[in-house]
Amino acid sequence: MKARAFDYRRVASVAEALDAYAACEGEARFLAGGQSLLPALNLRLDAPDLLIDIGRIEALRGITLEGAQLRIGALTRHAETLASELIAAHAPLLTQAAAYMAHPAIRNLGTMGGSLALSDPASELPACMRALGAELEITGRDGTRRVAADDFFLDLFENVIEPGAMLTAVRVPLPAPGTRMRFEEIARRRGDYALVGLAAHLVVTGATVESARLALCSVGPTPMRAPKAEAALVGRPLDAAAIADATAALADDLAPDEDEGFSAAARMQLARVLLGRVLSALMTREHGEMAA
Ligand SMILES: Cc1cc2nc3c(=O)[nH]c(=O)nc-3n(C[C@H](O)[C@H](O)[C@H](O)COP(=O)(O)OP(=O)(O)OC[C@H]3O[C@@H](n4cnc5c(N)ncnc54)[C@H](O)[C@@H]3O)c2cc1C
Repeated sequence: MKARAFDYRRVASVAEALDAYAACEGEARFLAGGQSLLPALNLRLDAPDLLIDIGRIEALRGITLEGAQLRIGALTRHAETLASELIAAHAPLLTQAAAYMAHPAIRNLGTMGGSLALSDPASELPACMRALGAELEITGRDGTRRVAADDFFLDLFENVIEPGAMLTAVRVPLPAPGTRMRFEEIARRRGDYALVGLAAHLVVTGATVESARLALCSVGPTPMRAPKAEAALVGRPLDAAAIADATAALADDLAPDEDEGFSAAARMQLARVLLGRVLSALMTREHGEMAA
């Protein structure tokens, strides 16, 4: 199959992109890396009248430190996320997650903004944003607002971006001393979407877990936090007993669906195994400790 005919317009600024969207009388889509949108067009799962190519907008690029946050432009390619020294130093969860995403050819084109705007619950980056407590910057014709990642994802492929508005950047808080973070996933083959993925972010002071943010992919309609498992970790040492309690509590947090070839019980078991594995790795400082 090939895509239905559409108009194409390349824009040079965010304002031009927003104006082009507003002026379109039919359906318009922003085109970033095209790694999800173009397959959807070719399969005729989507058939917009106009593609607005935002890939050359310089203002959507760049990874910078801004106060207590790391700002990552929406057009940051997955390969840039993987290679960035700033991201490795301040948000290594994203470096680890990007290594699991697809294959080099797709990582060379796919973007941070495209992945988050698509809001596929099987994707790695949405779960990372929730675990990191990031903010997402959304720009419309009436200005820019910031939304906490916990409030951004609404349902399967749905989020709070209004039609015609654009994701312009994400802002990740710089890690507090004692922060440990780790991303791992279980997939059939390296590069496949995760059967289950886990982004874990802990702050450990002395021997005590001060805070825990756990976000999983492929176990629900959005990237899922695990509040019961998080609560089982906080206020106590990160030891075998705490890990056993957290993995047991996970059953109260998640209710994955059945799908072809994978029962809900099997997916739940994978999530438990993954949580135990990631937390065990985080018991030792060498794994993910950010600052003394
Ligand atoms: C074979 C294959 C394997 C893959 N494996 C994985 C994987 O393992 N993990 C994973 O996470 N992803 C995977 N992907 C998807 C890939 O990561 C995409 O790059 C990503 O999902 C979308 O990014 P993009 O820049 O290509 O967006 P596009 O395809 O250009 O756009 C996707 C959607 O987001 C909208 N959009 C794009 N940018 C913005 C913006 N700034 N503001 C508002 N809306 C915007 C578009 O209008 C469109 O609706 C895979 C893709 C392929 C083809």
